[in-house]
Amino acid sequence: MTPGRKGLLDRLKSGVVIGDGGFVFSLEKRGYVKAGPWTPEAAVEHPEAVKSLHREFLRAGSDVMQAFTFYASDDKLINRGNEAGKKFTGAEINDAACKLARDVANEGDALVGGGISQTPAYLSGKGKQNVQAEFRKQVKVFVQNDVDFLICEYFEHIEEMEWAIEVCKESSLPVAATMCIGKEGDMHGVDAGTCAVRMAKAGADVVGLNCHYGPYEMLEAIAVMKKALDAAGLKPYLMTQPLAYHTPDAGRQGFIDLPEFPFALEPRICTRWDMQSYARQAYELGVRYIGGCCGVESYHIRAVSEELAKERGKSPKSSEKHEPWGEGLKMHTKPWVRARARRDYWENLKPATGRPYCTAFSCPDNWGVTAGSEDLKQKAESTSAEELQKVFQKSKK
Ligand SMILES: [Zn+2]
Repeated sequence: MTPGRKGLLDRLKSGVVIGDGGFVFSLEKRGYVKAGPWTPEAAVEHPEAVKSLHREFLRAGSDVMQAFTFYASDDKLINRGNEAGKKFTGAEINDAACKLARDVANEGDALVGGGISQTPAYLSGKGKQNVQAEFRKQVKVFVQNDVDFLICEYFEHIEEMEWAIEVCKESSLPVAATMCIGKEGDMHGVDAGTCAVRMAKAGADVVGLNCHYGPYEMLEAIAVMKKALDAAGLKPYLMTQPLAYHTPDAGRQGFIDLPEFPFALEPRICTRWDMQSYARQAYELGVRYIGGCCGVESYHIRAVSEELAKERGKSPKSSEKHEPWGEGLKMHTKPWVRARARRDYWENLKPATGRPYCTAFSCPDNWGVTAGSEDLKQKAESTSAEELQKVFQKSKK
């Protein structure tokens, strides 16, 4: 850690920590990440793109530069014909990502977090030893790079999450643990409250949720977790990093099941005002690490920072060009736009989609398969034409 810099747990103890947004989604849109594998080789291939995204979040008030290491386990890098694993090892990508995050963190007062996520090895039933070996390779690079804390994020199964926390606890770094589940619980039927209790008991200092659900659905789930933690007498810090998409119609698998995933989610995007409301509600619920995941861009995080400016005693740099609740519109040439320079206008607006036959909800795919199922077995070879035909047929039923 940079000398003199306050660590994660101290910051959480005395205030609120603002996270960042989802790098794979953001960089996919900019043309640096492939949708499908969602791996972060851009940390090596396009360091400037990664750095500039970190910088946007820093300006928007993020207190954490999360190294761009999502899905950088060696088994994920080679999964289903992905070329990334042939070009780079997980260690190379993780190392490059840590250095980029640290460079930008040092331009402000931010911390660096190194993250690990669920593995194909777990889905394919390869067992604890193999899964933990994948985690251990990644954590080793984070420790070498002196990151400020570790993040176990995007786990759908509490069992694999516990294995991940166990490996992180081999270091002396603080551990934040977030599952990508909703209020219904994990993919093996363990309820959300029990998942929270098990993460805390495994030793996570910060417990919560990331990805798969929009902010409002995630708030419902974190409330369930908080209740269970309180009942068990456990007091980890709480963390939420939701999507910037509204997902009231999503099932147990979250937005992955929505037919619009991943290329047509735009009509569901949260406005900056939705994010302000999320930040306030999360804070009131007791969440102290408040950030975002897929779909969350820097202006969403700026909205979180603005909402919590009073609690934090500061406004983000990027608010220099963004006055609260549309104040800047007072300078607009058209009077009816000037009339929108007020809080109650934006707070009460119901934005239209502009799509005449668009419905409010979709019908999610719900195949109901989980780890242990033949359909979910992962492999290094590319998906064959024959296998593809099978899933096309299945999806038509
Ligand atoms: Zn995400």
